Amino acid sequence: MALIVQKYGGTSVANAEKIRNVARRIADAQSRGDQVVAVVSAMGGTTDALIELAGQVCDQPDDRELDLLLSTGEIVSSALLAMALRQIGHEAVSLSGSQAGIRTERSHGRARITAVQPGRIQKELAKSRVVIVAGFQGVTEEMDVTTFGRGGSDITPVALAVQLRAARCEIFTDVEGVYTADPRVVSNARKLKHIRYEEMLELASHGAKVMHPRAIELGAEFKVPILVASSFSDAPGTLIDGGEPEKEARQVMGIAHDIDVAKVTVRGVPDHPGLAAKLFAPLSEAGIRLDTVVQNASVEGKADITFTVSYQDLKRASDIVGPTVLEIGAHGWVSDPNLGKVSIVGSGMQSGAGYAADMFKALHEAEVNIELITTSGIRTTCIVDEAKVPEAVRALHDAFSLEVEE
Ligand code: ADP
Ligand code: ASP
Ligand code: MG
Repeated sequence: MALIVQKYGGTSVANAEKIRNVARRIADAQSRGDQVVAVVSAMGGTTDALIELAGQVCDQPDDRELDLLLSTGEIVSSALLAMALRQIGHEAVSLSGSQAGIRTERSHGRARITAVQPGRIQKELAKSRVVIVAGFQGVTEEMDVTTFGRGGSDITPVALAVQLRAARCEIFTDVEGVYTADPRVVSNARKLKHIRYEEMLELASHGAKVMHPRAIELGAEFKVPILVASSFSDAPGTLIDGGEPEKEARQVMGIAHDIDVAKVTVRGVPDHPGLAAKLFAPLSEAGIRLDTVVQNASVEGKADITFTVSYQDLKRASDIVGPTVLEIGAHGWVSDPNLGKVSIVGSGMQSGAGYAADMFKALHEAEVNIELITTSGIRTTCIVDEAKVPEAVRALHDAFSLEVEE
């Protein structure tokens, strides 16, 4: 008998019929002799609706209260799924993150798991029950509920698979696996049979929301192979694991995109040591995550510093940057809220040359202007106009012939 951890995303549990479908899939796995722990997201659209509701009762919801509110989405779907399983004759119990023993640091809206205390889950499994766990949430030492950030339900099954030493971790979603690009943007995107953790991490960190990056980090750290597959079909999915570096190093294997990018440029920053630290310290204290940071060469003792943040963080970042610009004696600042980014990713890129040049050429031919460029060993990213992102993704997918099996 194998212990498997499964996860079903928001679209997969979006209504009563879909919840019954998921219950049947879990029942089938149990009937095949497996012990099942199933993690669920909130029913599709619920988290957005709860955020919207919070905005109707106050200007800026308190972090703690917002976390408690958002955690209810996953609790609703887990209780409903347990009921649907019982209805078809399978013993099941639902647990909130807290009841499932998921402990986190005290950081609302982006909490990290510090420990998983699996006692209750193990007790329920010993009674031959399917254990349904509400994803995306945990609890602090003070018993305050926390959440992991948008898309964070993916983190729960990987953490549970590690702690329970599960034989498999299966992520069921609304596409059949990980593709060479978002199949909703590129109609001929190709499903990958296999992808290495480091490549998936780059894709996920740069917008491929099929998996949350922290789930991949955790999987890589503890060497948990993760299967991504459809909750609506039995088509074979994509296996994410450590792979074999030399044999499988592909050149460009995938494209990620993100339309949630905003840019701030601080002009004429005096070229003195310590001013960049002064500019960025208050942003960091406010928990604003910087993506790209670029400083150009100084001219006559002044340089421009440009950085990007997510669109949601732009207002807070602007409120902080305005006063700091005066304090450090810079000329002024401007922002652009409507940007996006496209990235090419592939393990083989670190040993080859010319990928960046090919990328810039393809974007030029598609008449996409590049605003900023960043790279890692296995990725090159261009920041472009948000409206041009879909075109840019399709142009790159064509330029690197990603629809063709290697
Ligand atoms: P879930 O609710 O199951 O967590 P998400 O909406 O978070 O599902 O993630 C699945 C979506 O990720 C797909 O519908 C697809 O549009 C998007 N996606 C983006 N990039 C990729 C990719 N490279 N491969 C597969 N799906 C991708
Ligand atoms: N319900 C949360 C969200 O919508 C977490 C998740 O679905 O992964 O972001
Ligand atoms: Mg998701």
